Amino acid sequence: MVKALAKVTWEKGLRILLGGQKIGIDVRDVRDEDFLLISHAHADHIPKSCKGFVVCSNATKHLINISARRKLRENLSYVFSRGLEICMFPSGHIFGSASFLIKYGDFSLLYTGDFCDKRRFFMDPIDVDEILKYADGRIDQLVMESTYGDPYFTFPDFETTVNWCKDWIEDNLGKGYSTILIGNKIGKSQILTKLAEEFENVILSPEVERINNIYATKFNLQRFPTINEVCSVGKLKVPFILICPPTSKRWMRIFSRKYKVKKAIFSGFAVDKSFKILQDVDEAFPISDHPDFHSLVNFVSKVNPELTILVHGSSKRLASHLNEMGFNATFFEDGQRGLNEFLEST
Ligand SMILES: [Zn+2]
Repeated sequence: MVKALAKVTWEKGLRILLGGQKIGIDVRDVRDEDFLLISHAHADHIPKSCKGFVVCSNATKHLINISARRKLRENLSYVFSRGLEICMFPSGHIFGSASFLIKYGDFSLLYTGDFCDKRRFFMDPIDVDEILKYADGRIDQLVMESTYGDPYFTFPDFETTVNWCKDWIEDNLGKGYSTILIGNKIGKSQILTKLAEEFENVILSPEVERINNIYATKFNLQRFPTINEVCSVGKLKVPFILICPPTSKRWMRIFSRKYKVKKAIFSGFAVDKSFKILQDVDEAFPISDHPDFHSLVNFVSKVNPELTILVHGSSKRLASHLNEMGFNATFFEDGQRGLNEFLEST
């Protein structure tokens, strides 16, 4: 029997034709797809409109409705349609993020979406063994994100970086400096909220608080007041710790003028020493919601697909490394995501 093959293209997101059915994954514009798959709630993965059959987790639906102000009511978590099977597995990137396993006859394709293979406080890592078990041990095509697909991106261990950050905060507070922790509003800010739990006078930007409330439906996350709550009643105690996204520029400006403040940003790009200068902060910590280069290579080695297709970031660099290792890897150039777009959209 001839194995079914998926036609996979990248046009503002991944488009797959399999068994006569059209699947759009993390597409920006919806065309005539039979199924629209949304891996997670970061802005650069959400279509401009959500129509037809949407496949995503309940958490992703809630986060999209809150953060992108959509009215997504219905979502599927599993599809079986004319021989096509689509199922979701937690990808470990943010709350509700999913990898999709798509099967048709003998053929199987795994789309990782943004993922993370390391435990970070309450976030469980992706479970590749579980996915492989469901795929009967074999994936034909792997479509994997390669945000940090360059050997340059080698991250220190999460706990070590967390301790480094706590020492840095402690040192700032001891010298009377307030501290601003900057991370994207969905995912990183909740990790930072957990990190800051042992300190006093923690405050949140309103957008971080809204997302924290959704996380608190599943995870044990301490509640902290928002900037508005403390400032409106004159209860801001100094030194404080503020958790906010990079877009909270106005608050950062106001606080930096008024108080002694140190700022830190959290991203995998922090392994580059020039990153903190470019971002105009005092410190940059390499805490990421993505795998580093070595984790990406390990993931491909474990899945051992017939074809690996890379999207985002250093896709070309990683494809050539994987091909040298004997894998069959290619990449979508259109899938490149610039640093600014990456930082601002998340
Ligand atoms: Zn993401």
